[in-house]
Amino acid sequence: MNLKKLPKIELHRHLELSVRHSTIKALAPKIGLKADTDEEFAKNFLITEPMKDLGSVLNKFLDTQKLFYTEDIIEQITYEICEDAHNEGIKILELRYAPTFLVMGHDKINFEQAHLAIVRGMKKAEKDFNMAVGLLCIIQRISPLDVAESVTDFAIDHKDTFIGLDLADNEEGFDSKPFSSFFMRAKKAGLGITVHAGESDVPNAPRYILEAIEHLGATRIGHGVQCYRDESVIKQLIDKKIPLELCPTSNWLTGAIKDKDNHPFKTLMDKGVLTTISSDDPGIFNIDLTHEYELLQNKYGLTEKDFEHCNKIAFDHSFISLDKKTAAWS
Ligand SMILES: [Zn+2]
Repeated sequence: MNLKKLPKIELHRHLELSVRHSTIKALAPKIGLKADTDEEFAKNFLITEPMKDLGSVLNKFLDTQKLFYTEDIIEQITYEICEDAHNEGIKILELRYAPTFLVMGHDKINFEQAHLAIVRGMKKAEKDFNMAVGLLCIIQRISPLDVAESVTDFAIDHKDTFIGLDLADNEEGFDSKPFSSFFMRAKKAGLGITVHAGESDVPNAPRYILEAIEHLGATRIGHGVQCYRDESVIKQLIDKKIPLELCPTSNWLTGAIKDKDNHPFKTLMDKGVLTTISSDDPGIFNIDLTHEYELLQNKYGLTEKDFEHCNKIAFDHSFISLDKKTAAWS
């Protein structure tokens, strides 16, 4: 089976952390970051060994964010991300970004300008590569509530170009419940809801998954990998037909899963949890989606049939309109 050519659907990829490496190398010197040698590039822009905790991973993301300093660059980066995804066999791609994170420190770019640049890059790529791309808007858990509210308004105001709303960043110490009313409002406005929950290996992680479903109305969970520790959470995910956007390499690099050879993906799939396969941050993790398929095939014995099963789940639960995703998938 040629895994690179296998048609794929990816539901979980962060725009800010999927920048093409040659583009990083070209842009880095312009913002005072060194990427001349492989060592410098890896030191500033890659995470290839497990980090101690999710907080330190998030800090490492900041250098990449500095690259997004003009609208033209944002458009170019978005187009290239879609092109790279196309070259990985991805026909349907959900790309997410946090407006607050993207424009941070870029005083000349506001949410609107950044978003329109992303939409331009995305639309051009959709046409050039005959693929379907949908954008998810992220609220950062660390945001004050008034900022989170303004991001919610921004997402709803642009529901013609956003397909959904997400909550991301470090879960521990950042309760999701205060964001409930924003997510309910977005849901009512027609946006899909997916939430990063149950990602890190912390004591309450399985409970965070249930809170995302109950309080934020999530119909998909970003990661959710820690559910493997609690059979009652697994049962609820199965009963409620809530798929997980699983990202195996990401889980290992962020320390969410300690043992590289022991990811619960297949166990969860075999139990009947709706599992989908994503790369999360392919640029910074130095991987692509094909890498994740290879890992699942080689280490856990997933077959072509299993991949078809996961992609069928991803198709059914993608927030992209049925017409658009059908056209790209057939
Ligand atoms: Zn993520």
